[in-house]
Parts: sequence; structure tokens; C-alpha cells
Amino acid sequence: MNTFNELDELLRLERYRSSLIRFETLGTIETREAAYPVKAIVIGSDDRSLPTLGFFGGVHGLEKVGSQILLAFFHSFFYQLTWDRDLVKSLDGYRIVSIPIINPGGMARSTRCNPCNVDLMRNAPVEADPEHTLPLISGHRVSPQLPWYRGEAGKGLEKEAQILVDFVKREMFEAQMALSLDVHSGFGVRDQIWYPYAKTKAEFPRKAAALKLKALLDTTFPHHIYKYECQSDNYITSGDLWDYLFDGHHEQEKDRVFLPLTLELGSWNWIRKNPVQFFSKAGLFHPMKHHRHSRIMRRHLILLNFLLRAVRNHSAWLEA
Ligand SMILES: [Zn+2]
Repeated sequence: MNTFNELDELLRLERYRSSLIRFETLGTIETREAAYPVKAIVIGSDDRSLPTLGFFGGVHGLEKVGSQILLAFFHSFFYQLTWDRDLVKSLDGYRIVSIPIINPGGMARSTRCNPCNVDLMRNAPVEADPEHTLPLISGHRVSPQLPWYRGEAGKGLEKEAQILVDFVKREMFEAQMALSLDVHSGFGVRDQIWYPYAKTKAEFPRKAAALKLKALLDTTFPHHIYKYECQSDNYITSGDLWDYLFDGHHEQEKDRVFLPLTLELGSWNWIRKNPVQFFSKAGLFHPMKHHRHSRIMRRHLILLNFLLRAVRNHSAWLEA
């Protein structure tokens, strides 16, 4: 197997032996050069009705920093499970599920799309409001040679997208409360947390829950760095997998909350501070200087830990 750093890191995580951590290979992505596993991690109880937090990354292969943040988080979390009995005990009450590298073929090749040139975040059977769409970026079926290609009409989901959808349905849909964070990079100057929809400016049915979480974050960490808003305040897209999953869940589980969030790291700022990055393909999506990279690894740990506690204690703020 041809490998790459993030996949190596993910495979290294399997060295942590604990009855609380389970690894699973959900599928294999074949490219001309090699085959790559899509790996999942499930932490905590087998009881899928418990509140569940999902961490996802690497949907867009170029945006490696999202996977790196999750992998750094898991290394730290798994190590803490070897000595922190309170943390071990807390896992009686919630679960964490993750696919840290959804698009390993794209990551190996440093492309946004998967090895079939499909943008996985435009691939779902979800059509955006036509009056607000932008040419190409909102998703298109013009040509796989252009970015944001949705895939052939009627062909169904790409393998990676299907793996994600099946995993989220299996691991998150039965939960009494579910929250996911999908980490991306490359848009804007600030780190942004987005709640759905991507497809429309119409109101998201769980807007109240999304805003309660925002209030909790704002009050708990008044100096946090995130801009928190609806995804459609930024741009509208067709084919968003989280819109698709949310709608599927909402139809089926009217009484339960599933809140799929996106963390979009504001990489334009990294470019402003280090303009040389503009000339590097990887640099558009990554902080290249070492000190900046360490800071980015560190600065999101507060958010990830906050989300753990918010999910575990959801009744304290969601029903308040
Ligand atoms: Zn992305």
C-alpha cells in the first residue's frame, strides 16, 4: 500500500489497546497507484442510543489539516484513557464515532475530489435553491475536469460518500442526541462553525438547537475564536452530504436531535501571513510554518473537548 502521513498516523492509533476503542475498515478505495482503507473509530459503549458525537475529516483530500487535528485529538484522548479514570467512567454516558479520513484516495493524491474526480460534498441527491446558486462552485455536472463536479446524474453516491452515509446512519441515527463536526479548510479568513442548510436559505428545522449550542459556547468561552452561523449565509450548494443525512434523520426521528456541524478553518489568514503559500497547492489549505501548525493543532482542542461535554450533558442546555 502506498501510504501518506495522515494514514500512517491513523494506523498508528490502532496500537492503543483498550476495550473502549474499536477500529473498523469500512471499505477500500482503489486508485491506479494503490488501495487505501477507509477507517472508522468507535469509542465507548455499544449502546447506540447513548448521546453520540461524530468527528469527520478529509472529505476533501487537499484539506489535510482537518484530519491532522482529529488525529492529534485522538492520540491525546487515547493516551488519557490509559490514566484518567474519570474520563473512562464518563464514557458510560456517551460515545464518540469518527472517520478521520473519508477520502484517502484524494488525500494520497492531494486533490480536493476523490479519485473519480467527484467532489464528495456535492455528491448527495440534494438540489439547491436555484435562485441562490453560483456557477460551478455550488456543484455542477458539466465536466469531471472542473472542480466541484457532482458526479454523473443517476449514478448514485460515490463509494466514499456511501461509506460515510451508511456509517452515520448506523452509528448516529439511534442516538438520543447526536452531534457531528466535519472539519474542512480553505474558505474565509476566520475559523467558522456552520450549521445546515447548505442547500437553501430556508430555515433549518433544528435552528433553535444550533443557536442554543452557540449560546452555550459563547457563554462558556466568551473569548473563543469562532464565527458561528448558518452555512447558507456563506454560499449555497447542491449535493451536501450533511443536508442529505440531516433530512433523512429528521424524517425518521422527528423527536431526536441530530446536529451536523462543519468547522471551516479560515486558511486565507495563513496566506496573508505568509504569501509564499499562495504559490503552493498544499499551502492554500495548510498553515506551512511549523509554529503556526502547532498552534492550529492546539487551538481547536478546546472546541473538541467542549463538544464532548456538550453532547454528554445535552439535557442541561438543549432542553433548558
Ligand atoms: Zn472542504
